[in-house]
This record gives sequence, C-alpha cells and structure tokens, in this order.
Amino acid sequence: MKDERRRFVVNGIVQGVGFRPFVFNLAGSESLTGFVTNTSDGVVIEIEGPLDRLDRFARRLKDETPPLAKIVSVMTESVPSTPDSSRFFEILASENSPGTNTMIPPDVAVCSDCLREIRDANDRRFGYPFANCTNCGPRWTIIGRIPYDRPYTSMASFTMCPACRDEYDDPANRRFHAQPNACPECGPRVWLSAGDGREIAEPVAAAATLLAEGRILAVKGLGGFHLAVRADDETAVLRLRERKNREAKPLAVMVGRNLPLHVDPAEQELLVSSSSPIVLVDRKSLGPSGSIAGSVAPEHNRLGLLSPYTPLHHLLLDELAGHGINALVMTSGNAGDEPICLGNDEALERLAGIADYWLLHDRDILRRADDSVTQILGNKLHFFRRSRGYAPVPISVPQIPPGPPVLAVGAELKNTVCLLKNNQAFLSPHIGDLENLKTYEFFTETVATLQQVLECEPKVVAHDLHPGYFSTRWAKEWAEEQADKPDGGKLIGVQHHHAHLVAVLAERGIPGPAIGLILDGTGYGSDGLIWGGEILAGDANGFERLGHFEPFPLPGGEAAVKAPWRTAVGALRLTFGDDPKVWPKIQFLSDHETGPILEMLDREINCPLTTSCGRLFDTVAALTGHWPEIKYEAQAAIEFMALTTPEEVARAEVWSVPFEAAAPSIILPITPFIRAATEDLLSGASPSLVSARFHATLIDLLARAAREASVRSGLTDVVLGGGVFQNEILLAGLMDSLSESELRPLRPISAPAGDGAIALGQAIIARAQL
Ligand code: ZN
Ligand code: ZN
Ligand code: FE
Repeated sequence: MKDERRRFVVNGIVQGVGFRPFVFNLAGSESLTGFVTNTSDGVVIEIEGPLDRLDRFARRLKDETPPLAKIVSVMTESVPSTPDSSRFFEILASENSPGTNTMIPPDVAVCSDCLREIRDANDRRFGYPFANCTNCGPRWTIIGRIPYDRPYTSMASFTMCPACRDEYDDPANRRFHAQPNACPECGPRVWLSAGDGREIAEPVAAAATLLAEGRILAVKGLGGFHLAVRADDETAVLRLRERKNREAKPLAVMVGRNLPLHVDPAEQELLVSSSSPIVLVDRKSLGPSGSIAGSVAPEHNRLGLLSPYTPLHHLLLDELAGHGINALVMTSGNAGDEPICLGNDEALERLAGIADYWLLHDRDILRRADDSVTQILGNKLHFFRRSRGYAPVPISVPQIPPGPPVLAVGAELKNTVCLLKNNQAFLSPHIGDLENLKTYEFFTETVATLQQVLECEPKVVAHDLHPGYFSTRWAKEWAEEQADKPDGGKLIGVQHHHAHLVAVLAERGIPGPAIGLILDGTGYGSDGLIWGGEILAGDANGFERLGHFEPFPLPGGEAAVKAPWRTAVGALRLTFGDDPKVWPKIQFLSDHETGPILEMLDREINCPLTTSCGRLFDTVAALTGHWPEIKYEAQAAIEFMALTTPEEVARAEVWSVPFEAAAPSIILPITPFIRAATEDLLSGASPSLVSARFHATLIDLLARAAREASVRSGLTDVVLGGGVFQNEILLAGLMDSLSESELRPLRPISAPAGDGAIALGQAIIARAQL
C-alpha cells in the first residue's frame, strides 16, 4: 500500500495533559513517521504511513485520549509526502504563533503514582512536596502565557537536574514533557517561617507539631494561601474566626485518609477527583466521632469537606495523623472578604495578624484560584463556586451563532468574568465581591489575564444594567477609552435575570426559548426597580416578564439586606396595615424597636420596593425571631433552610397562597405568606415547622406559576436560575413538582446558580445581539 501523509490540528485541552507523549506512543505503536508539536493553533500532528494505519491512528487518537485531555475538535487534511529527516516519529519544540485556539488546563490534584513515590523511602522523591507528572500537578496557576511550556511558567527559574531531564526527555516515562517536573535536587523547596525572618528546621514535621498545639498556620497551596488550624479544637477554631473576622460563615475541612467518612459514592468520587473541590456533605457523614468542632459550621447541616490535593497537603496530613489529628480547617488565606494571598511577602504582610507561622515555598503562584465549592444534587454536580480544578475549562456552546469575541464583566457579588471566543465560553475562576478594593484589583487582573492567555481582545463588552456595580463602571470606562480608537468599542447592557435565564440555557446546550423561574437576591430591573423573583419567558434574543412576586419594601435599601428584621417590619405593615397596635402579637415585635422603620415607611424615605425572593426568605426567617441581622450573604436564608429537611417539607401542610390566573401579569402575593407564618408562630409552631411549611408553599406556588406561564407562553422548558436555587430543598422539590406537571425543569449544572454565572449569560446575549 502507498504511503500517505496527513496533518491533524487538534484543539481542546491538549496541552499539559500528556497529549504529545500519547501521540508519540500511538504513532510508535502504528510504526508511523512524522512529528507532533504544540502551537498556539493547537496541537499539530503530521504523520505518514500506509492508509489503513493512518485511519487506525486517527480513530485511536479520539478513542484512547489520556484521562485529563479533552478534544474539542480535530481538523484533518492530506498534505504532500515529505521524507522526514528521521525515520521515526518525533516531538518538536513548541512554536509560537498568534491567533491561538488552545485551552489552558486547570490545576490537577496529585495522582496516585506521584503519591506512592513521595511515601516510598526508596524513591528519590520521598517526602518531596512538589512531585508531579503529566497526569497531575499545577497548570493554570503557574502559567504565565501560552503555549504551555516550562519557560512560560513559574518553573522557568528552576533548571532540571540530569535525572529530571532524562525523565522529561524519555517518551516512555510518566514525566515525558511534564512541564513542572522537579525533584529535591533541582526543584522548589518548602520552608517554615515564624514571620520574623526565622526559619524552622524540618518544616513539614514542625508545621504538624505547631498545628497539633492549636496554632494557626498560613499554608501556601496551588492557587493561593490557606489558613489552617486543627478542626477538632474548638478554642483554636474560634481564635481563627476572631482573627480572620469571620464570625459565622462555615469553614472548609480537609480530611485525612484515616477519618472514617460515610458519604455517597458520587460524593466520594468528587472528593478525590482530579478537580478536588470542596464538597458539601451531610454533617452526619462524619459519624458521631466528634472530630469536628461545632464552630466549624454552626447552624448548618452540611459540612464542606475537601481532600488533600497537593503533595504538601498529603505530607502534612500524614504527619498530623501521627499526632492523632485527621482533619484540618483549611480556609482561604485572606482577611475578611479580600482575595486570597498569592506571594510569600504578601502573605507575611497581610496575614500577620492572623497566622502564627507560615509554611512557604518558592514556586510562584502566577494566577489566583480559590477552592471550588460543590455539592452532589440528584446525582449531579451543583456548583456554589466554580474555580480551581474547573476554571478556565471553557463551557462549549455549539448551539449559539458564530460571531466576534465578547467580554462579559458579570455582576457585583460573587463576580466572575467571561470571555466568549468562537463557541467556547471561558468563564473565569471565582473573583468575589467587587465592593472590596483588593477584589476589584483581582477583577481587572482577571480581565487582563483572560485576554492575554487567549490572545483575544474583544471589541464588545457586556455588562449588568445596574449603574452602581463596579463591573458596570469598569465597562463604561472601557468604552470611553475605546471611543478614541479607530475601530471603537461596543457596550451591551444585559438585564440581570435575563442573564440568569440564558446562562442556564447556554450551559445546558439548549437554544430556548424557555420559561425562567429566576429567584435571587436583588438585581436591577428593566424598569429601574429592584427585581429578584421573576417569571420570564425568552432566550438570548430577548425576554418577556410574565410575572413576579408582589413588590414589598426594603426599609433602608441595602441596609435591609444585612438586617432582615427591617424587611420583616415592612412586610408586617404591608400585610396588617399602618397601625402596629392591631398586628398579631408575635414575639418578633417585642424584640425590635419598629418605630423608626415604620416612620421611614410612612414617609417613604429610602424604602425601595423589591420583588426579590431572597428577601422573602429573609423576611419569613426573621419573623421566627432568628437572624435579625446577618454576618454573611444570604445567611438567614441558608440557615432557615437548615432548620428543616426534604422529608419534613414533603409532609408539611401548604399555606394557602392564591394568585389571580386571569390577571395580565402573574403576581405571586407575599402577604398570605406573612399572614400564615404569623398565625403559625402565634399558635406555638417551631421555627423548623414554619421553615418546612414555607418551603412546601413556595414549591407549590412556583409550580402553579410555572404551569400558568406554560399555558400563556406555550413553552414547556422551565429554567431554574438565580442564587436562591443554591437552596437544595427548593431546587429538588420544584424539579420533582415540575416533572410531575409534564414540564421539563432545567437546573444549572456546569456553572453556579447564583451570580457566578451572570457573565456567561451576558456574553451569550451580547453575541445574539451582534
Ligand atoms: Zn502524578
Ligand atoms: Zn531534579
Ligand atoms: Fe443574581
């Protein structure tokens, strides 16, 4: 058979995941000649040999892809035969050309082979905290620019020793072209600092001893610093909370292999997956061992667990096991709401008032990545925060029309940004709340980073309609700068809840249109009012507002978000009239000085109206007497949910909340909720019963509203989006109820339900409008 030559251009996650060695071995096994190389257009393979073997090569290329690689496209063409300089297949050095189409792999948890080596006293990497191979190790966080090659990473400053070099050059080796390859001879090192210039010997063992004594350690990780403290020591955990100024928000716990866990198989798989996120598991999964202090996650029935994911974590936990400790609080290394620290000097300075010691190393972190936060819901992934291990893997959106690239800058809280290039949406790692200056700097940095590594500078920016969001202001400033340039720039404002609706459609690969039950905190409405409990119908091209919750006041505006008792006073007045003397005498009224709030309401001073479902949660929660004020976003709603269970909600009697089917808009009234909750409380119902009935009623009401919306729109797909759907009881209950009505519920899976997905929706909507 005559020889032929073919050229393949492979795109997807094909750099830094052992793809070239895989191609090399594949070509070898088929006795084909040619070469493979990384270019910024993707991995280019030229291969020559008999036709049947070329075909088999092409098939195996797709079928036997290495575990971490993800092929998005393969372009094939025949090229003229060229006698290859060598008679065998070779890997050529990467070339750099503009207009890149490659993707950056996320960081990967240490693999079992590397783990075995660092625990093997006869291995040259015994006890080495930076062991990695083509199947594991840092990626996104050490990449300066693409193509992904050592000189462009923070490993550039380390020169491989002959032994490492041999591994790197040997196609049969697991470390063949593993860019961060290192060993104790030539690679990064770890040291323990007391913060005053002193270094403590035997860093990992000493760190474990200090942790065992209850000290707080700053530990440099993959995408930033953690603050660590033993999880079983109430005093130590409380000290960390106090120093970090984090009163109530749950802390994540890293669990060692000796801690017995009783989690579902899907949860277990996720915990030890290569992404290694924080997984919220049932608190009971830990058994009655008492190994976790109560103050780790007060008022929560779920606990955020994560597995050790770097060799350093494993070595530290192995040492701690010797002290009888199997769980460490590992919370982000920052103060308050600031972004996590990256550099050693930065950590020594910013964490000075929090950490007692610093476990540092000299492999620089070039890009921040927080731990991702997930849960298994209905056997599927559910994101609270999508970051390390996932971002910046793009979300494929083949269903949207082609068009120019778009940069979407997201919302204000839990911000992420998104760069839409061709049919790939690169949603950034979690950035945070932009009102914090340091977080805002991280935001501008991320915008620059995405454009840089994707070698793409969009001329279109999508933003929220809220004029006060820092992301919106950034977009306006960008547009002003562009105005002076010859090709200018285009701004596209996107309504917040429309973005929520389209984000879910996009990641689920459905063009729409669909009904959207969009429930969240607050978002700027098309009419300038504060929306947040919306029944929409639409797709990326536009939407119609079919209905919403009955508007109710937010006394003091933003202040009411942090003090739910204020919205409760407003809701009582809306329900029972201006005269508090005739209101039902619930305990709530004796606990609060309602006068000043009522005066604000009477005189309509700073009492904007909202249709927010999140605020309705706050209001009913506050009526039960708890959570007059909150310490972190959505605390009242989250802890109110934790008072009940899906079983109790399924059994609970539903309150009567009618809505007028004939009205032009579907208005979901809120006064019947307030009336029923106060009646229950007066007759001695417990807050958990009120929570159960509230959830049951909401599920029932929303399902009825969805059916009405379906009748009016003729649509049967129902998107469930917005931050309120972080509430697993509401989400699962509504999914069931909608399915029974022959409607198809669409929940978020690949992106968070909350504002972490707004940028994705914005980008898709902007593309549709171009
Ligand atoms: Zn490995
Ligand atoms: Zn070495
Ligand atoms: Fe939102």
